This record gives sequence, structure tokens and C-alpha cells, in this order.
Amino acid sequence: MSILVRENIPLAPLISFKVGGPARYFVEPSTPEEFSEALGWARQKGLETFILGKGTNLVFSDQGFPGLVLYTGKSFHGIAWEGNRVRAQAGALLHTVVTQSVGNGMAGIQHLAGIPGTMGGGTYINAGAFGQELKEVIVFVTSTTMDGKLVQRTNEECGFAYRHSHFFHLNEIILETALELVPGDPDALRAEMRETLRKRKEKQPLNLPNAGSMFKRPPGQYAGVLIERTGLKGFRMGGAMISEKHSNFTVNAGGATAQDIHDLSSEVIRRVKEATGTTLEREVIFIGEFLPWPR
Ligand SMILES: Cc1cc2nc3c(=O)[nH]c(=O)nc-3n(C[C@H](O)[C@H](O)[C@H](O)COP(=O)(O)OP(=O)(O)OC[C@H]3O[C@@H](n4cnc5c(N)ncnc54)[C@H](O)[C@@H]3O)c2cc1C
Repeated sequence: MSILVRENIPLAPLISFKVGGPARYFVEPSTPEEFSEALGWARQKGLETFILGKGTNLVFSDQGFPGLVLYTGKSFHGIAWEGNRVRAQAGALLHTVVTQSVGNGMAGIQHLAGIPGTMGGGTYINAGAFGQELKEVIVFVTSTTMDGKLVQRTNEECGFAYRHSHFFHLNEIILETALELVPGDPDALRAEMRETLRKRKEKQPLNLPNAGSMFKRPPGQYAGVLIERTGLKGFRMGGAMISEKHSNFTVNAGGATAQDIHDLSSEVIRRVKEATGTTLEREVIFIGEFLPWPR
């Protein structure tokens, strides 16, 4: 076997919230063959598999993950340009693809600058910001099924929607995403990217561990505004807190557990529903067992 399977690896350092338990088994594949080998190994052992990118949109429970975590956050990050098309492997950082595209005078994703995840995670969730979404530029996505069969899907076949794609239900691993961009004015693109990064710094609590927006935007409304109107700015449960700077950001204010973050988000859903009638839906993905709230 050419892959290195490690055991009981702490996941909290690999997750932007800095919470959660360990992975029972952990592999960092760096080629499609290594993904296939790792999947075969997990299948043989009857293990559940989870694919982890940069961990910037999820929380593992405090018990961790009992199966195999395949981690792309440090490897498998090739990026290949051909004219105005770019193919990026799942572990490539979205921000790197954005800066390269701007550097190459290509428009279409300049407002996605500063999103801290991978191309795999971004494709899975159809990452977007400031009026742009990955789905607008994706041409096709190559993935592998859990039994190692390669699949290529066109944009339409991926079922992209607001922070959603068919990959939520497909149980496949995204290996590569191909984007098509359009030529633009390099100076204007650089200025737009700088402005995007400035806005992020100004509005987001980037000094404390978080996972971006906790809730999706309800149709015609803003989750942050509803949370603020409900009087929850700065509201805290254990070490988890609604940011004072941006109400749709939950932050780890120090010593939070994964359960604290889950409890806080459940209580926010409950109170916002009571105060405004709107049911918020989580954007951050929770993996594993969590105690229900209220208890
Ligand atoms: C400060 C901050 C700001 C953010 N701003 C934004 C924003 O403006 N817009 C936005 O959309 N998001 C934002 N996010 C959230 C997050 O960065 C994005 O959703 C990002 O695309 C997630 O990528 P990731 O690699 O971290 O995925 P992870 O968190 O590692 O995984 C998220 C999900 O994707 C799945 N996944 C990951 N890789 C693959 C793969 N190769 N194949 C199949 N499934 C895969 C995982 O299994 C998991 O279910 C922000 C987060 C932070 C911390």
C-alpha cells in the first residue's frame, strides 16, 4: 500500500473554528490513484469516509469522526491554465485561483477573493460572495464515486443552487473543477479584488476562529439583520458567541466546544423564529452526533 494511513489525528487544528474531536483514520491523498487506494482500504474495513478541505465551513462533533477522513487541505492542489480556462484540483485554494485569474486578466471570480476554502469545498457548496458564485463559471466537475469510478459532470448536471449542489447527496469526491473566465481589464480586476478584501476585513471578525456565515440568507432577507433585530448580537453560550462585528458570524470566543457552537446556533434559530417568524437554515455543516437543544 502506498498511502500512509494515520490514526487518531486531531481535527480541531485543521478546522477554522478550532473545535471538534479527532479522526479515527486520516489520509492525505495527493493523486487520483491515492484517493482510489484510500477508498478501497476504507471499503474493505467497512469504514465511513469523509472528505475534508480547509475545514472553513464545517464543525466536527466533539467525539470526532469514527471513520476515514481524506484531507485535501494541504495537497492535491494543481492548477492548470489553458487560455481562459483553468482546471483546479480539489485541494487548490479558491483564493489562489482567484489571484491567478486576476493576474492573468481574467474576470468572473474576482469577488470571491478572500474565501478561505479549497476548490473542492467551494464547488461542493457553490461558494459565492458580493454577487458572484462559482456556478457562473464552472464548465465541468470531475469526481470519483466511493468505489473508484470517475465521473465528469457538466455545470447543469451538478445542480448548483444557492450554497448547494447535487454533491450534497451524491456521496462522491470532487477531484477537479474546470472554470471558464472572460478576459477583462487587469487593473480594474485588481482594484475590484482589493476592494473585496477591504470589505471583508472591515465587516468580518477575522481575528477570532469562525466558519464564515453561520446561516443562509433567507429569501429577501439577511440572517445577520434578523439575528441583530432579535437582540442576539454578542449573545454567548459557553465559548461560542454571536460576533459583535457581524451578527451572522458565530465566533469561538475562547474554549468553545463543537457542542457550544451547535447549541448556540439552535438557540438562535429558536429565538429568531419566535421574534420574526423566519426559520433560519444553517450554512455551516455539522458532522457527527450533537445533543439536541434545548435540553
Ligand atoms: C472568514 C470566512 C469567510 C467566508 N466567506 C465565505 C463567502 O464569502 N462565501 C462562501 O460561499 N463561503 C464563505 N466561507 C465559507 C467557506 O470558506 C466556503 O464555503 C469554502 O468554499 C469551503 O471550502 P473548504 O475547503 O473549507 O470546505 P470544508 O469546510 O473542508 O468542507 C465543506 C463541505 O464540502 C465538502 N467537500 C470539501 N472538499 C470536497 C471534495 N473534494 N469533494 C466533495 N466534497 C468536498 C466537505 O465534505 C464538507 O461537506 C467563509 C469562511 C470563513 C472562515
